[in-house]
Amino acid sequence: MPRVALRHPSSLSPIAIGIIYFVAACAALAVSRFEGGLAFIWGANAFLMAELLTSRRRHWPRALLACAPASAAATALLGMGPLAAVPMAAINILEALIVAILCRRFVPDHRVTGSIRPLLIFIVALCGVANVVAGVLAASVAALLTPVGFGPSFLQWYSGHVLGGLICTPILIMILQGEAGRWWRESPTARKAEAAALLLFFSLAAVHVFFWARYPLLFAPLLPLVLIAFRVGQMGTAAAVIILAMVGGAATMAGEGPLMLIGENVGQRVQFFQFYVALSFLLCMPVAAELTMRRRLFEMLADSENRFRAIAEHSGDIVLNLSIDGTILYASPSAHEQIGCAPDLLVGQPAANLVDPQDRAAVILAHRSALARPGSTHRVEFRPLISSSDTEWCEIVTRAMVDERGRPSGVVSTVRDISKHKARQRVLQQVAARDSLTGADSRRAFLEKLDREIERAGTGARSCLLLIDLDHFKSVNDRYGHGAGDRVLSAFVERLRPGLRTGDSIGRLGGEEFAILLVDSDIDRSSALCERLRARLADPVPVGEGEAVFVTFSAGLVALDGGSTRSALLEAADKALYRAKHSGRNCLRLAA
Ligand code: GH3
Ligand code: MG
Ligand code: MG
Repeated sequence: MPRVALRHPSSLSPIAIGIIYFVAACAALAVSRFEGGLAFIWGANAFLMAELLTSRRRHWPRALLACAPASAAATALLGMGPLAAVPMAAINILEALIVAILCRRFVPDHRVTGSIRPLLIFIVALCGVANVVAGVLAASVAALLTPVGFGPSFLQWYSGHVLGGLICTPILIMILQGEAGRWWRESPTARKAEAAALLLFFSLAAVHVFFWARYPLLFAPLLPLVLIAFRVGQMGTAAAVIILAMVGGAATMAGEGPLMLIGENVGQRVQFFQFYVALSFLLCMPVAAELTMRRRLFEMLADSENRFRAIAEHSGDIVLNLSIDGTILYASPSAHEQIGCAPDLLVGQPAANLVDPQDRAAVILAHRSALARPGSTHRVEFRPLISSSDTEWCEIVTRAMVDERGRPSGVVSTVRDISKHKARQRVLQQVAARDSLTGADSRRAFLEKLDREIERAGTGARSCLLLIDLDHFKSVNDRYGHGAGDRVLSAFVERLRPGLRTGDSIGRLGGEEFAILLVDSDIDRSSALCERLRARLADPVPVGEGEAVFVTFSAGLVALDGGSTRSALLEAADKALYRAKHSGRNCLRLAA
């Protein structure tokens, strides 16, 4: 199930937010304020920070406006008095706002708990920025209004707020985001029982260390705490640290426990205790966050593996996993029907063995290119060496897989039968290469042949281009109709074609204009051939019932020259043809 980072809308009303903040602030002031200064653990701001970090920015003002009067009222009633109420409220709001802004800026997915990096960003924002700024301001106010000086006030604020923020914010975020509820709903009973037993054991250990033990055993709760981080995860760790703070705090404030060995007064003991709890938190919470992230990654990996299997096993394409050297590590079941080979028999073989030797180099190149550029997809067509049916052409699409350091660890390829597609492509190409009326080459196909022949002429071949235009063809259309004109055009090609040699080509360039490529034939031989073609039109072409027309043509001839461009040669032939027309038609002229 996807995790929702931000609640929409915030699940708490502004009045509820204000009341919770007020109660948390009063509790901290009533229970943990000592020597007339600041509270030793300030959980109210942890709640405000959790509220801001789990809601959209546009909901922030209502949370801040709800908490400001709550903070002022608590300070006025139980804290430093009415004079400090407004400044302390402003400073509390500022602290929470700094943390929220920094986390929103540097944690793009808005999940402050869940992995180490965002947790570290939260810790730095809270301890390194927000409480340094807020502590200086609050200590200035406290120095003015209470007997406690600036230095001790700063320390009291800093340690109380850092401790409250560190240990309470993560668990409050998890509760507000619904993680706690989800854990409760989705965890099997055995897991819940284990978590409860571990937390109970931890509570007993804490009570023992702080109330019953004769020796200072401050290190003793750390063992079950680490166990909770591994077995229960972040939520259990956060709960355990809160239990530690409550049990140890109660003992220390009551003048009991191992911290009585430290310092002269409650202030020094409390600060040592804050340091101890904060260290316990920093020891276990990042470990728990990392483990949670790994568990989530593992679940995602298992999900994606299942998806991959489902796709591979139900796909008509063959899915292959190949090692870096091209050995088949996995072949999907469709290999059986496509190439008639059981997938198990393919495993361990070089994938290149499936490819016709003519295409092997291209397939290997695609494999190497995919490995060289992970993230890119490489597609190549090849002829298979073995196939169960009449598969003639396949397409392989290859993409590299990468390991946790981003280095290629192999490739995943899909192989698809594209024989039908290729056959259709061939038919379309053939259709496009023919003029539908006369059966001569289409203009495009003819010009491609001409290009190839010009290239050959560059290597010494002697060929010619004959450009032909029917004389007075318009009058055929005018007299006998367009249909008769069409019949004349196709009869013209039909009569000329037997006069050409193998290798020669005739193309229709447009309308009643044709071109003939005479390969391995110089100007003299080509001129003679042109006149032989003219003779083939000596008999009239029938155009209708009892009617026939004499067809003549004018022509321009040019010898191909490897140094000339296609358009230059066509232009030269066209000029010669133009001269033939002006010389009375039905004749041949040579290009200058
Ligand atoms: P010239 O001797 O100067 O070449 O005269 P012409 O009448 O042959 O040349 P012109 O360019 O005046 O006319 C060419 C005609 O060819 C006009 C057009 O209707 C006809 N034509 C072009 N394509 C086709 C076709 O596919 N079928 C038919 N029936 N006629 C066509
Ligand atoms: Mg013409
Ligand atoms: Mg013409």
